[in-house]
Amino acid sequence: MLSRKIEDKTVFIVFDMEWNQPFPGRDYKFDVSSLSGEIIEIGAVKYVYDSGILTEKGIFSCDVRPCKYTTLHYHVKKVTHKTNDDLKTGIPFEEAYKKFRAFCGDDFILAGWGNSDPDMLKMNLKFFDMDDKLNCFFLDIQPIFSMFAGERGKQRSVEFAVDHYGIPKNDSFHSATSDARYTGEIFKRIFDCNKTSEVLSVISSSSIDPDLKREYVNVGSETENPLDSLTMTEGWTKMCPICSSTFREEISRFRIRKSVYALYACDEHGEFFSRTRIKKNKSGKYYAASVLRFATQTDYYLVAAKREEYERFGSKGAPAPIEENTEETQEVKTP
Ligand SMILES: [Zn+2]
Repeated sequence: MLSRKIEDKTVFIVFDMEWNQPFPGRDYKFDVSSLSGEIIEIGAVKYVYDSGILTEKGIFSCDVRPCKYTTLHYHVKKVTHKTNDDLKTGIPFEEAYKKFRAFCGDDFILAGWGNSDPDMLKMNLKFFDMDDKLNCFFLDIQPIFSMFAGERGKQRSVEFAVDHYGIPKNDSFHSATSDARYTGEIFKRIFDCNKTSEVLSVISSSSIDPDLKREYVNVGSETENPLDSLTMTEGWTKMCPICSSTFREEISRFRIRKSVYALYACDEHGEFFSRTRIKKNKSGKYYAASVLRFATQTDYYLVAAKREEYERFGSKGAPAPIEENTEETQEVKTP
């Protein structure tokens, strides 16, 4: 139930969206954090998988008329090259989403570049009182590209990947439809340029259920000693956050510098990535912040790489700074 196997006739909907943003400091009649972006365009390409090949089966393109953020934010204007008049030509979000779902069909895997699009889609559905369950798996093509392109752990742009594969640049970037097309082309190339069995094995274990909470956070109480703080959340990290059953250890706990890593598994809910960090508060006391999340292939490689470092150098870690993983810098964004 955690991820989805890919078989012949599996349908992929590679999608991309553009959204407008609120102006900082402007007074809105609602909590802006509940709508950090309002969707203004949805683009998608449908592919059917068969014997190692993706075949394109249709394109979806729809401009959406925003009703909350009706003036283009300067940043969005710059990136998308849209105008305020463009915003008036779209159809209401509810209608656009219905059309999009009709295009998707009943059984498909949603795919995109980065994981912000499904989150933004769910946020808009919730804000406009629609059913925010997507009821499908989502595959983030970005880390899969990085892995097969030898760029593991790096967050590359769609344009970087397009250049990597020498895909002709006929459309401008940053329109939902052209970015969905480009992302689809990249996805096709990943299949074309690599061993089918390897691609299948990676993507079959990488899709996630966007309707499930992906990340669980627990903060322990203060301690005087940094290492003592770790014991405060240790028990919490050893249980599945969904069903509370005790995890099996796939890669057992180990500490490198201020972080403890592990890879756990629940028989029912699959693999979890676990990381606990020792932090210091303003009064000089220590506490532990633990994260458990559904492990993606990227997480798996992160823990495996850290484990290797641990086995070579112990808890002090490698003496020279090892290549900084993007995963490390993402942590700040964690809600
Ligand atoms: Zn469980």
